[in-house]
Amino acid sequence: MSHRIFNFSAGPAMLPTEVLEKSAAALLDYKGKGFGIAECSHRGKEFDGVVDEAIARAKQLVGLGDTHDVLFLQGGATQLFTLIPMNYDGNGADYLVGGEWSKKAVSFGKEAGKTNVVASSETSNFDHSPKPNEWKMTEGADYFHVCSNETVHGHRLAVWPTHPNLIVDASSEFLSRPHPVSQCAMVYGGAQKNLGPAGVVLVYVRKDLHARQKKVMSKLWSFKDQAENKSMINTPPTFGIYILLETFRWLEAQGGLAALEKRNTAKAGLLYAAIDNSNGFYKGTVSVKDQRSHMNVTYRLPSEELTEEFIKTAAKNGMVALKGYRTVGGIRASIYNAMPVEGAQALANFMKDYASKKS
Ligand code: PMP
Repeated sequence: MSHRIFNFSAGPAMLPTEVLEKSAAALLDYKGKGFGIAECSHRGKEFDGVVDEAIARAKQLVGLGDTHDVLFLQGGATQLFTLIPMNYDGNGADYLVGGEWSKKAVSFGKEAGKTNVVASSETSNFDHSPKPNEWKMTEGADYFHVCSNETVHGHRLAVWPTHPNLIVDASSEFLSRPHPVSQCAMVYGGAQKNLGPAGVVLVYVRKDLHARQKKVMSKLWSFKDQAENKSMINTPPTFGIYILLETFRWLEAQGGLAALEKRNTAKAGLLYAAIDNSNGFYKGTVSVKDQRSHMNVTYRLPSEELTEEFIKTAAKNGMVALKGYRTVGGIRASIYNAMPVEGAQALANFMKDYASKKS
């Protein structure tokens, strides 16, 4: 294996080495057949086996029975949150807006449906997610959409809300801890953070939603039709789905989502301790402590100059992609499932050392 460093990219992001090695081998020669998994028909038995196993494992990881369908779609999470109102919004839907991505879900969603923002924290620069007692819910809304981890602003819903038709954009924390998918109408996420390469969106959709499906212009955009066709109305991103399957196997081998949650909590704890123990040198950007993300740790240094230098020096020390989102600035360290504890420890040590030299 070639030299790999600690890559804190927010996505596309670091993937487990083992997943990459196994996928690379399958790309060249799938099970000794003399062709790779990206070189065979999506209608053939090899790929059919991949999809069936991927669906079964995706369900098993979150403890689902037969209540939900699993889809592997294209178009990114952005297309997904555009399709949701096209499919299900007849009377209007509720949206919680806590950051960049839930705001975008509304801006794309309102093209196709009636979106009601139950609460927004934009006036405080999305430094937290509005608390449940501030939500102005609509009686009879078709669904309630939330983003469970705001990738840009670095906070999460530590406990997902309950609602008869909860829809969750879990893109940046997907399968990083146990999720109550069985209690949700839909949970979806782009693969490029925790699951695999960009180009695949993993979706869990509760089957009773199919009956509520509105007529859409093409069946390509209908969740019901996609479910009936095992996400293969047309050619799916076969190699991307294969990598997801390898990730699902890897997650199981790690001890499942509860084990991952433990490791991810420890990793996040190392970085938040480095912030909290820096005598104010580092300032976390999230104002509500129990909302701090375990996936995207966001903080600022005392000046732009120090921020630039911090990023450059970290890169020289084998830690890359720490620059915050373009509209927010500061530092963002993304520590998805594939980031080892050693990576978080190395960054925490570097932070401590840097602060002591500069303060
Ligand atoms: N939702 C969240 C929480 C995200 O982090 C992102 C991408 N960073 C998206 C949606 C949009 O994903 P895509 O670029 O795949 O459309």
